[in-house]
Amino acid sequence: MDDELSKNLTRRSFFQMAVATLAIVPLALKSGSLLAADACPAKAPAGKALGSPTEGMGKGLEYVLDAKTSKNAKYKAGANCGNCKFYNTAKADSGHAPCTMMGMKYVTHCGWCKSYAVKA
Ligand code: SF4
Repeated sequence: MDDELSKNLTRRSFFQMAVATLAIVPLALKSGSLLAADACPAKAPAGKALGSPTEGMGKGLEYVLDAKTSKNAKYKAGANCGNCKFYNTAKADSGHAPCTMMGMKYVTHCGWCKSYAVKA
């Protein structure tokens, strides 16, 4: 009887764990924590004006496509366009979004510039 109860509890525990895991996976995927969301986008969004590190406002703001490559003294590890308050995530497309400081041109979430301000 005790063995039967123990088996049922173990089986029940297993299924409870499985159901809990299945419930968490979609949330984690949606938040991007299980995806390679942190990987820099390989392609720019089609048909969008892109900020450039070598021209116009991008050049003036010392914008870089990969934040870790910034030589600017203001750059702090972990800062990037994706967590900047000027990055308009509501209009994000293919790992890019328009930036207020770049005249609403699209920047990569991996980028950084000297106007960076942490998102509240
Ligand atoms: S202001 Fe923010 S979002 Fe815009 S380019 Fe600079 S770091 Fe990126």
